[in-house]
Amino acid sequence: MPYAIDETHDPKLTSWVESANDPQSDFPIQNLPWCQVLRDDEDESLQTGVRIGSCVVILDELDEAGMLEGTGWIYGADVEVISELDPADRNVIRKRLSQLLSADCADLRDNSDLRERAVIEFRGDVSEQGDILMLPVFPHDYTDFYASINHATNVGSMFRPDNPLLPNYKHIPIGYHGRASSIVPSGTHIKRPIGQQAPAEDGGSPAFGPCKLLDYEMEMGAIIGRGNELGDHVTIEEAEDHILGLCILNDWSARDLQKWEYVPLGPFLAKNFASTVSPYIVTMEALAPFRCPVAERAEGDPQPLPYMFNEQNQKQGGFDITLEVWIASEKMREQGMEPIRLSKGNFRDMYWTIAQMVTHHTVNGCNLNPGDLLGSGTVSGTTRDSRGSLLELTWDGDPFAEPPVLVPGTQRTPIKLPTGEERKFIADGDEIIMKAYCEREGYRRIGFGECRGIIEPARANT
Ligand code: CA
Repeated sequence: MPYAIDETHDPKLTSWVESANDPQSDFPIQNLPWCQVLRDDEDESLQTGVRIGSCVVILDELDEAGMLEGTGWIYGADVEVISELDPADRNVIRKRLSQLLSADCADLRDNSDLRERAVIEFRGDVSEQGDILMLPVFPHDYTDFYASINHATNVGSMFRPDNPLLPNYKHIPIGYHGRASSIVPSGTHIKRPIGQQAPAEDGGSPAFGPCKLLDYEMEMGAIIGRGNELGDHVTIEEAEDHILGLCILNDWSARDLQKWEYVPLGPFLAKNFASTVSPYIVTMEALAPFRCPVAERAEGDPQPLPYMFNEQNQKQGGFDITLEVWIASEKMREQGMEPIRLSKGNFRDMYWTIAQMVTHHTVNGCNLNPGDLLGSGTVSGTTRDSRGSLLELTWDGDPFAEPPVLVPGTQRTPIKLPTGEERKFIADGDEIIMKAYCEREGYRRIGFGECRGIIEPARANT
């Protein structure tokens, strides 16, 4: 297990960046997630930083001042370059940053010239000087899994009432190849997609036009660290060495397009119009105190095949991460209302671990590359308020009842907003906000920031 708990996780550690010491901050000194900043300078340069409190620390500035000497920091490195490093080498950089930013270290704290260049105050995703947070890494490839058995059962019950969970589910981490070109950073506005929709009756003609059943999917994204050569594979024992960290992922989904197109090859245009990720990669190192056992499989469920089974992974392959989805309609924002929470789930409920996904993905010799994005699949728990999509949330059926009931778009219980508006699916102008954080007795809370997106009307020329 390469990700040990060490002095950087000490809950007593505080920073001279005062905002990091707020107990509710997502970004205390124990976190230090990676991000990429487009500087508002002459070259509009892209620079790599770590977030702490309300600030982003630019590593190249520290390096120029000689403060990263001996850490192996590569001047000009973006997050993709960092992901190629050995986890042990990444940890040397983490330990040095933790030291430089700690309350009792004067090197950077008392060097006001350098501090001004290297430590940038942010308000939301933009700094006071106009620097912008970009995607935390630019993935070349994106694979989306389907690793929550609760989500798979819920959705399967709606799409295939007689046959909700297909026989492969408990043996294979089901996934499909998504599209990297339409991965966008938090805050990007998303146009409602247009496409073919399932015929109202079997054998009828499809409708065509703006999506009527637009949804989000609350997922975690895993960023690949070191890759593997084509033809080679990553064993379950090695898998976590190949992960840089996690971010929040909103896999926007057009349910009416999906229902019509997904047989026989899986999702296509229902998913690839946009996927939003949060601006930070919370590292595997930072997540070390928040590991947990794999969710227990129901009695009678098969064990994973040996290539995906490892005691260590069974004991510590999960992550205890709380995930929340919030909504603010346009009207709510106009009336100055705060967003309301739609759901709260936990990533520890997944049927498959990230390590199992990496192992399975490469078992055939498929090569993963540094910075690739793997989506976990919608994170849904067993209770109604832990369902990670509107498709499930506004669905009345008991997913565990026999036989399960309802099909998309019918007999749904809408969600009531404080303005009196109702939602079964996402309306134009709605903002969806996802948050994630880890809390555990004896450790400092850390968070992932937010993953936001507002839906705009479909383009006019349909
Ligand atoms: Ca998904």
